Amino acid sequence: MEKIKRFIECLIPITGCNLKCGYCYVIQRNKRSLQSAVMKYSPEQIGLAMNKMRWGGTCYFSICGAGETILQKDIEEIVFNILKNGHYVNITTNGTITNQLNKILDKSLSFINHLHFSFSFHYLELLDKNLLDVFFDNVKKCKEKGASIMVQVNMCDEYLPYLEDMKNLCIKNIGAMPQIAATRKEMSGLQKIELLTSHTEQEYKMFGKSFNSPLFDFTMKNFNVKRKEFCYAGDWSGNLNLATGIFRRCYASCIHQDIFKNPKEKINFLAVGNHCGSSFCMNSSHFMSLGTIPSLQAPTYAHLRNRKESGWYTKEMENFLSGKLKDNNNEYSSFKKIICNSVGLIDNLIYFIYVRIKKNRRKNAY
Ligand code: SF4
Repeated sequence: MEKIKRFIECLIPITGCNLKCGYCYVIQRNKRSLQSAVMKYSPEQIGLAMNKMRWGGTCYFSICGAGETILQKDIEEIVFNILKNGHYVNITTNGTITNQLNKILDKSLSFINHLHFSFSFHYLELLDKNLLDVFFDNVKKCKEKGASIMVQVNMCDEYLPYLEDMKNLCIKNIGAMPQIAATRKEMSGLQKIELLTSHTEQEYKMFGKSFNSPLFDFTMKNFNVKRKEFCYAGDWSGNLNLATGIFRRCYASCIHQDIFKNPKEKINFLAVGNHCGSSFCMNSSHFMSLGTIPSLQAPTYAHLRNRKESGWYTKEMENFLSGKLKDNNNEYSSFKKIICNSVGLIDNLIYFIYVRIKKNRRKNAY
């Protein structure tokens, strides 16, 4: 049974999308330029950089666009070049771009058991654009071909009158209710983050609870909780921009490396430690469930997403994503932890200054 070595959150900075959801983070930030990402490196070069030896073992690369991920040109080549190294790949998609999805499935059919799709169910846009059948046909097709799937809904006020319709549609088409993701209000810089709702947090939780979604329960439990434990992000996990090759330890880190330029160059893995610079772990359902903070008890990644009764995951995916990073990585010695924390303090300071400068520039621009 393969054990996960690292979890890498990958961004493709495409802002183009065929839908226009009111709660979209890109629209909230006013960054919807409908542009494709300019990829500095070819899919083949990305493939060379993902060599399993370099990464120390089998990793899980989770790819998400700033718009619709699979609209990106050559997405099927990028996914294939990562998979062929023996890694696992997640693609987050709105599930409506059939020709692009077909290209991915055709190209990676021989690695299909390592492919995971997170389908975002944007109900009102699908209804408005008459794409509900297209969406469910695509989800079912991925599952039939042998990929693992999960369907999730961004909980927000505009869906409240339709919650029962959404549940019933999912049960009818894919055998279970969707998982629920919490939706944030986009705010700049270091401010406390809020939920995107006019309701109280208690009411918001109640709406989500009716979906019996472990993903939602876990996300809400960790919402706005500042993490102070020793975090292995930067070593056991990381953030990678697939367009530029820039690898960062986590969101609030200034330490970076272009890991695509020279695929033979060693990647400088170093944990963030006790100095997480974020106000809370924005993607805790990924990082925490895979065990980036080993001292924290958390359900597995598979438990938060798979609807076992409907077999959304293959057996192989269920096994792989039920593992924890500490099963395949050694924790640091006390001395190494001291080094990490010293680097972390300086990194935090630089990040703080960087955010302040950015904020002031934005203010002056208005
Ligand atoms: S706790 Fe902080 S450093 Fe660790 S994964 Fe979460 S955001 Fe990143």
